[in-house]
Amino acid sequence: MRLHHCALAAIVLLAGWFVAACTQPDMKPIETPPPSTGALAPDNPFARPSELPYQLPPFERIRNEHFAPALEAGMAEQRREVQAITRVRSAPTFANTILPLERSGALLQRVLAVFSSLAASNTNPEIDALQAQMAPRLAAHTDAILLDPHLYARVRSLYERRASLGLDPESLRLLERYHTMFVRAGAQLAEADKARLRALNEELSTLTTQFRLAVQQGVNAAAVVVDDEAELAGLSPEQIAVAAKAAKDRGLDGKWVIALTNTTGQPPLAQLENRALRERIYRASVMRGFGGEHDTTGLITRIAALRAERAALLGYPDHATYVLEDATAKTPGAVNDMLARLAAPAVANARREAAAMQRLIDAQAEASGTEPFELQPWDWAYYAEQVRQQNYAFDEAQVRPYFEMNRVLVDGVLFAAQELHGLTFKERPDLRGYVEDVRTFEVFNPDGSPLGLVQFDWFARPNKRGGAWMSSYVRQSRLLGTKPVVLNNLNIPKPPEGEPVLLTFDEVTTAFHEFGHALHALFSDVEYPLFSGTSVPRDYVEFPSQYNEMWATEPRVLANYARHYETGEPMPAELMDKVLAASQFNQGFATTEYLAAALLDQQWHQRAQGDIPQAANVEAFEAQALAAAGVDFHAVPPRYRSTYFSHIFADPMGYSAAYYAYIWSEVLAADTKHWFETHGGLTRANGDRLREKVLSKGFSVDPLAAFVDFKGGEPDIGPLLESRGLTAE
Ligand SMILES: [Zn+2]
Repeated sequence: MRLHHCALAAIVLLAGWFVAACTQPDMKPIETPPPSTGALAPDNPFARPSELPYQLPPFERIRNEHFAPALEAGMAEQRREVQAITRVRSAPTFANTILPLERSGALLQRVLAVFSSLAASNTNPEIDALQAQMAPRLAAHTDAILLDPHLYARVRSLYERRASLGLDPESLRLLERYHTMFVRAGAQLAEADKARLRALNEELSTLTTQFRLAVQQGVNAAAVVVDDEAELAGLSPEQIAVAAKAAKDRGLDGKWVIALTNTTGQPPLAQLENRALRERIYRASVMRGFGGEHDTTGLITRIAALRAERAALLGYPDHATYVLEDATAKTPGAVNDMLARLAAPAVANARREAAAMQRLIDAQAEASGTEPFELQPWDWAYYAEQVRQQNYAFDEAQVRPYFEMNRVLVDGVLFAAQELHGLTFKERPDLRGYVEDVRTFEVFNPDGSPLGLVQFDWFARPNKRGGAWMSSYVRQSRLLGTKPVVLNNLNIPKPPEGEPVLLTFDEVTTAFHEFGHALHALFSDVEYPLFSGTSVPRDYVEFPSQYNEMWATEPRVLANYARHYETGEPMPAELMDKVLAASQFNQGFATTEYLAAALLDQQWHQRAQGDIPQAANVEAFEAQALAAAGVDFHAVPPRYRSTYFSHIFADPMGYSAAYYAYIWSEVLAADTKHWFETHGGLTRANGDRLREKVLSKGFSVDPLAAFVDFKGGEPDIGPLLESRGLTAE
């Protein structure tokens, strides 16, 4: 399971975008001009739609100073467009109300698509600062539209007459969707309640930005200082050099610093032989946000309370009920049932894995004549790695020469789409990205007609956030006459000049995953941009990407790309079998730590306003929530504790009450994989069926209905349980 923000680096809400990315702590405030009336300098690259093919943004002309005025002008333009709708004297019609609303905000979209992409992929202190500054402004901008009583009156009048308007199905759905968005945003509230709602949204925007900064600063501050190099036994010389440099950068010459990542688990724990140091790193990780300078307990309890208050204002018992109503899950009950069904077998599986490690610990103690100890969370990764090496004996260094980057991309990822969907790809070095390393491909349909553009930014950079994701610069829409332009981001370390770029199997799988999102956007064939491509609920969006991972190991695809970069020899079957078997290893741990985090998320958000814990009780609250759900296995802590759970607290909405979405989508992905395996696999006919019934639809139809139409039946959880090893007794 790939846990990242993926397609949702930027979420379109109306024509305003919801920006999700990391902000650096050392940001410098920059001057923003006062709200403009809209005139944007004609030489600003956002002033007009790009003239490049497919409206690819003109990156070579875009500078930091272009963003603030373009964002201001974009908001002003959309305000004027919406005012024009409400000033129409004649009775509301679809053509004089919904269509201009759907077309509004083009400039704002244009600039936000680039701004949010750069904030994630190639940021700088000015962009970070502007993002923090703009977040509450954009929230207020969206509210101003969705809480406009005159605009809502027109939408409501149309909605009430919708059956008699003679609309085609997609237009009817658009009207219904707008009505839902207005109602969910509070359009039906009395003026005093609307004012409170606006205040809540702005405060949430500010607090979640503060949380994001506190977590970022907290993870840096929690880095562990090591005085004696001997304690680092187990790390490679390169890792030790990195730790020495990290110390030097902090003015700690002659020492070593182990930097932390935002998850509970820390990668060096798999290697460090020194048990005391492992424990120190683990404790530094899980105590982040509890007390001290970067405490977040006050922020998260306040955020949860404000969300609960907002839900109550809007007529819902709690925030989760509000969020899930608009997801494919529909109710907290459905999510709880699903998580409960997975919890017991996942924990049982993790306990079996722990028992195997405990046997190893005991055997080693006996052999060395030392006292055995009980497996603790800081021991898990270290002994799991030993069990893995025992059972699946192979070395990453044996595998990587078969996964050369260009082969993986062209002969793997793109080849699979060619075999399955008949697509062809032409590299366009003349069409540039925001850095030299970005590669651009033009995509063509089987009949040779143009489909869109896809860019690949696969290398890691210090100014790029972690993980992997897909974003859109231009969304497909027949109304606007636009074809999709999409970007896939990975974080592959760049080797020194002249050396081959060799991937791990995990990176290969991630490349297929992200291209699944890209295909979802590229195949979009809808009238309205609101429904385009990946604009689907969060608990559905990971389905096309997770499913697309299956082609990484399909024998014909694998044989085509997994070749030794020097000799061209195919990867030996025994080696691939070992890699595949190892990828199933430690699934009890992975599923349990994920479920624990998903349950915490639900517990925070399934509570009414008066029922949110106090800051001092966050730790006890977590313990109770995990125990009640049966996932309180002390050796497997949640993937994120509440105090650094950025998915759910670092944005006004983010993945709040929606972290379950990854495994919810995985049911559909595993079921689709099973469908392909039982219907002839990699064939053009199968690819066409998936494209026609699922990937082309975006949100223009009910997504679950599209899945059922494709499969010819309801989703089945069986294949997911099977793939995660949750069926064994
Ligand atoms: Zn994804």
